[in-house]
Amino acid sequence: MREACGIFGVFGPAGLNAASLIHRGLFALQHRGQESCGIAVNDRGQVRLLKDMGLVSEVIGDDDLHQLQGAAAIGHVRYATTGPGSRENAQPLLTRYSKGILALAHNGNLANTDALRHELEHKGAIFQTSIDSEIIAYLIARHRPDCATVEEAVSRSMRQLRGAYSLLIMSRGKLLAVRDPLGMRPLCLGRIGETVVFASESCALDAVDATFVRDLDPGEIVVADRSGVRSLRTHCGQVPRPCIFEYIYFARPDSCLDSVSVYQARLAAGRLLASQHPVAADLVIGVPDSGNDAALGYSQASGIPFGKGLVKNNYVGRTFIKPSQAQRISAVRIKLNPIRSSVSGKRLVLVDDSIVRGTTSARIVTMLKAAGAAEVHVRISSPPFLWPCYFGTDIPTSEELAAPHHTLEEIRQQIGADSLGFLDPASLAAMLGKPGATYCDACFSGRYPLLSGHVADDDTSDRYLVE
Ligand code: SF4
Repeated sequence: MREACGIFGVFGPAGLNAASLIHRGLFALQHRGQESCGIAVNDRGQVRLLKDMGLVSEVIGDDDLHQLQGAAAIGHVRYATTGPGSRENAQPLLTRYSKGILALAHNGNLANTDALRHELEHKGAIFQTSIDSEIIAYLIARHRPDCATVEEAVSRSMRQLRGAYSLLIMSRGKLLAVRDPLGMRPLCLGRIGETVVFASESCALDAVDATFVRDLDPGEIVVADRSGVRSLRTHCGQVPRPCIFEYIYFARPDSCLDSVSVYQARLAAGRLLASQHPVAADLVIGVPDSGNDAALGYSQASGIPFGKGLVKNNYVGRTFIKPSQAQRISAVRIKLNPIRSSVSGKRLVLVDDSIVRGTTSARIVTMLKAAGAAEVHVRISSPPFLWPCYFGTDIPTSEELAAPHHTLEEIRQQIGADSLGFLDPASLAAMLGKPGATYCDACFSGRYPLLSGHVADDDTSDRYLVE
């Protein structure tokens, strides 16, 4: 399962090569998307764009960075969740309109894409791509002539958007960072001296030696330009619903999202699992990489030693990840291999972050038993997936998910485990260490966030807060 995208932006003083910072930042966000990537650089009003299919290391080279001079830039890594994975759908997107040029990078999915596209096409709009991000760019461009500033045009556009979006928008003289009113996807602000940096995750700030300043608030628009950094809060005030699965799987463990360490959340999930689903065993192992931290938490709480039982091959190219079931099964064998000397004769607790279809778990359990494991007790550091995600995650339709159609016992038998336990959905707030925390857990609960209801008042300058 993969996530939609990662975004990274830089606004610095004249003379800065923003592209080289973007390049480093995108490397740190590569886990959020490996299909395509791109970078748009603003050189005193002239915007240059480089984007293509492939990893950051394949698309952006040292020569390109030399060509991409400019003090402001935005970058994007993509995994397609709306529209096909093609070069035309790669980001950033460039939009030329009456006021000049806009570059836009988007993480998330709109939930009202079809309705907006239909309405806009009915009024004569022509779209170049099949992705929802172009609709956002189109709305901003359409509102801009009636607004005094680009941020007002963005704020006005946000009234029409429903769903998950963290955005970076670069105009001739400004860089805007935007988080949707529910804060579903992460976005944070950092600094390197005078240079302002925005990133999907704080690990990307670390990659460029930026100091973390803060997460953007849900609904906030932060504007960076030559006069400084300002915050427009016309869409703030809703109950936040950040994606809980960022903590379980998507984000890197060295990131902090909304003041919660991803690593600590995963440790806590493992500790909670140990208390909810104890078992007598000799060794706790994780499915690398995202299961390892929860496995360590399980070990800490249970007192069962933590060890390494599976090795992940990090050099399997994404071209090997094929869509058919048979190909997926053989891909598991190439990507993961058990350490026979570690698991042979042992009663194992195997911790993974999720079960989607069940085929990968079945393959791993089979491999471990073939390597001599005496028992394999599977523990999952999230609740069962029961519902699809409409917000930028490729959780499959309910028909393809294992949990909606099978009892716990049936899934246990299907994957060949000696026992099976999922994290109790009621303990997700405890996992975050924030009693009373609000978040989106719709793929587990079916309680989708309310995507309408808040419409901002007219934008006025007294809503600005100066950083
Ligand atoms: S439905 Fe699940 S994956 Fe999608 S945003 Fe909500 S918590 Fe995240």
